[in-house]
Parts: sequence; C-alpha cells; structure tokens
Amino acid sequence: MCVPRGKVWNVAVLPGDGIGPDVINAALPVINAVNSKFGISMNLKLGEAGFHCIGKEGTNLPAKTTELLKHSDCALKGPMTTPEEPGSEVSAAVKIRKMFTLYADVRPVRNMPHVPSLRKGVDLVIVRENTEGMYSGIEFMEGNETAVALRIITAKASSRIARFAFRLAMRRRRHLTYVHKQNILKLSDGLFNSRVLHASKSFRRVRVDGAHVDAMAQWLIKQPELYDVILAENLFGDILSDEAAMIAGGLGIAPSANIGDKYAMFEPVHGSAPKYAGKDKVNPIAMILSVKMMFEWMGLNNAGAAVGNAVERLLRQGRTLTYDLGGNSKCSEVGNEIASLI
Ligand code: NAD
Repeated sequence: MCVPRGKVWNVAVLPGDGIGPDVINAALPVINAVNSKFGISMNLKLGEAGFHCIGKEGTNLPAKTTELLKHSDCALKGPMTTPEEPGSEVSAAVKIRKMFTLYADVRPVRNMPHVPSLRKGVDLVIVRENTEGMYSGIEFMEGNETAVALRIITAKASSRIARFAFRLAMRRRRHLTYVHKQNILKLSDGLFNSRVLHASKSFRRVRVDGAHVDAMAQWLIKQPELYDVILAENLFGDILSDEAAMIAGGLGIAPSANIGDKYAMFEPVHGSAPKYAGKDKVNPIAMILSVKMMFEWMGLNNAGAAVGNAVERLLRQGRTLTYDLGGNSKCSEVGNEIASLI
C-alpha cells in the first residue's frame, strides 16, 4: 500500500468479551510505543461489540459501532463470545467480515524462539476464505427431526481467495496447497478446486498441490515443514489454523488478519476464553502480533518489524512469559515489556 505523507490513521478498537479487554489493554502500550518511535499519527477509537452488548443494546454489533467502523481505516478486535442457541445472533466477527467483504483470513503460523512446540521448522500461512462456505449462516429445520446447513461455494469468492493466496505465495516460498474434500463434496469442492487451478495458470512459478482436509490434518502434525501457503474454505481453514497454532506453540501466539480490498480487521485466532476473563493472565502475544500485521497492512513495514523483533526478544529473554509459555507473568506485564523493547 502507498501511504500518503502525513496520513492520520483512524483505527477502531473493539475490546470484545472475556479476555478481549485484557489482551487489547496489553497491546495498547505497544501501539503507542511504535507510533512515537516512528512518528505515526493514529487515532485509536474505542467501540463496543460482542456478547456483553446484547443485554443493553439488543445486538452484539450496535449501530454506533458500525458507524465507527465505517469511519475508520481498519479495526483491531479482541475476541468475542458467540451465543450458541438456535436462532441467536450471528457472531459479531462474522457480521463485520461480511459487512466489509473481508474475504481473506490470513493466519501465519511459525515457531517462535523458546516457545515449546510439537514440531520444529514450521513457517506457513493459512489463507481461509472468509465470506461463505460452511459459515454462510443459512440453516433451517425441515420438520422437527432434520436440521439443514447450507455450504455455499461460489466461483467468484473461490477465484478471489485463490488469487489472493497465489499473490501471497509469490512473496514467500512459492508453494501453495489447496485443501478440500472433493471426494465427498464433489460439486462444491469441485467448483472451489477448479477455480484454484484456473487461477494457478496466472502464477506458473508457484508450485501447486492439493490435499483432502482429513489427510491435511495429519500431515500438519507429521510434517508441517512441508507447507508454505495453505488455502482452504471457511470451516476447513478455521479448524486447521487452530491445529497448526497448537503445533507451533499454542493459541497464545497465533495472530490473524481479515483482509478485504478496502478494509481490514486484525484479531487473535483464539476466542474469548471466558474462564480467564479479567484475570490479567492470558498471553497477549497473539493480539500483539495481530498489531504487527496491522502495521504491515498499512504499509508501515518498519513499524511491523519493530513489533515482531520486540516479541522475539521478549521470548528469547524468557523472563516475562505468561502461564501458557511456562512463566507466571501477567498479561499486562508482557504488553508493557514488549512496549519497552520497541
Ligand atoms: P478459546 O480460544 O476462547 O479458548 C480455548 C482455550 O485456549 C482456553 O481455555 C485457553 O486454555 C486457551 N487460550 C485461548 N487464548 C489464549 C491466550 N491468549 N493465552 C493463553 N491461552 C489461551 O476457545 P473456545 O473456548 O472454543 O471459545 C470461547 C468463546 O470464544 C466462544 O464463545 C467462541 O464462540 C468465541 N470465539 C470467538 C472468536 C472471535 O471472536 N474471533 C474466535 C474463536 C472463538
């Protein structure tokens, strides 16, 4: 992205539910440290969204928050609790992804210094189609005994996410693996795969291979170092990214970016982990690495690199770590320490 001189960035900040406020509060000193080091002008504007809004506002995404999002360049989002009862509200994250057509969910996974992991040599990115598939939200009952969920796959969205993933692969190790279940879902995954293979013709320097999602689940555990960019529809990508995160060191260090053509939203892969809410205990690194992705999306690569380097230094020092990485530091202490390392 070409950044105009003197650009003032407007960033909507949605702390969300459960551990969301803790990880967002830990990330704010890091953002402030980067902004002052690199002279970045940024307005951080707090907004309310999530489960806690439903009682007082009647919705998890109030109109004033939608307005805030529309008048910002991008959003930084903490995790939100999603009601699960039939007929309850669609997840606020899904609403925002659809509202701004944030079609690419980019979830990088790699080993980090001193982070215990199931496997070494992991450096991959999962690109998850974010607008349709099993998360289209179209479900209904046929009588009382049969529930139907529609898994929508379109040529348009499949081509769009395939081109995005190929462009990313061109900037990495030029290897793309598309994940599917065409042996069972012959029409829908048949269409998805045909659009991926069609897109591949414009990216001949990228090595392409396909894998069934169930086989992929075991390959990720067995030989994750074989993979570079993994492209998947919505549900497959969601499941594989939690799995990949655990292989490389856990949800506490797994960031993500939801990217569209004009807007983006950055959030950790993990959810609101309600049992740790307000305890200042969980790992804020996933949130802070999502901030790194935000700076990179803004075209502020030095700022993004500064965040990444500070996180790596913190991990190498091994003094200020949360429980999931074997330490006993608080969430806020990790945020403050990373800020001081910027
Ligand atoms: P979760 O990711 O919230 O938690 C699972 C477990 O992972 C936690 O109990 C904890 O042990 C660990 N964990 C998660 N984040 C951590 C962190 N930062 N540091 C250390 N450990 C961490 O998954 P869940 O329990 O399935 O979901 C809880 C709620 O979050 C649900 O309502 C779900 O719908 C929602 N959710 C929201 C999002 C989102 O807002 N994008 C994503 C996933 C889940």
